[in-house]
Amino acid sequence: MSFFESHHPSPNFSPTPVHERLGVCFHHSVMSFEATVAHMLRPESRVSYHVLIDLDGSRASLVADEHIAWHAGVSTFQGRPNCNEFLLGVSFAGDTRATPLTDAQIASALDWLAPRWLRHDWTPAVMTDHRQIAPGRKDDLAPAEWARLLAAITGRFPAVV
Ligand SMILES: [Zn+2]
Repeated sequence: MSFFESHHPSPNFSPTPVHERLGVCFHHSVMSFEATVAHMLRPESRVSYHVLIDLDGSRASLVADEHIAWHAGVSTFQGRPNCNEFLLGVSFAGDTRATPLTDAQIASALDWLAPRWLRHDWTPAVMTDHRQIAPGRKDDLAPAEWARLLAAITGRFPAVV
């Protein structure tokens, strides 16, 4: 299944160093899809995701994979700080603390991951969310929704044995 993806280049990114693409940090944006895109097109906001996924699964591409989007802030993953430099930022429109991810959002995330999974040698172990890399400071995703998403990812991309 594939989903429509529109391109809205955000000015909020660092072109260097080239993004490492070690893995992915998932977020929810709280705001609607349209409001989030508008926010990330404003230079003053100084925030961006690589891609944003709407409730119906359609996506907005905001920052190129090889560039560093500004989504994680103060964060640590696998003992390393500055997660923006090595984790791509993928966000779901809406608020997973209030409303579960839609099936289309999860399917669209898998669709976005698919061409990148083998290219970057990803495993479920390099998938994370904002809550886990900035504990106590950030609460996206809701734990139950993170568990749903991770189960879907693990089901779609079984480990090579
Ligand atoms: Zn976040």
